[in-house]
Amino acid sequence: MTDLASIKTRLKAKLRELTARAAEIDDDLSQPGDDDWEEQATESAADSVLVKVGDVTLDEIRQVKYAIAQLDAGTYGVCTKCSGSIAKERLAVLPYATKCVRCSRPPTATGRDGPPNSS
Ligand SMILES: [Zn+2]
Repeated sequence: MTDLASIKTRLKAKLRELTARAAEIDDDLSQPGDDDWEEQATESAADSVLVKVGDVTLDEIRQVKYAIAQLDAGTYGVCTKCSGSIAKERLAVLPYATKCVRCSRPPTATGRDGPPNSS
């Protein structure tokens, strides 16, 4: 049996960590730029990396918050796409997974899922 309380504790710790990281990135981005244009170019390149990291962090925050809401609603571990249950092994690795393995997999280049039909 899955211990939902301990999952919630893990999720809340993760949320704190992500929120702190997002605040740090925000802090870095709001630093005033250097007057030297060459320095500025380097800084804006670094900033765009930070923005990307920030996007990923914000996305993770959304997922963690959603997982906590699911826990509260009693729908934790249910795939948001196919309503199937998410494997416990997957939740152990990624406690804030909102989709099952099948639904989170990117579509294949051929558009086919599995072996081709013989008919
Ligand atoms: Zn699914």
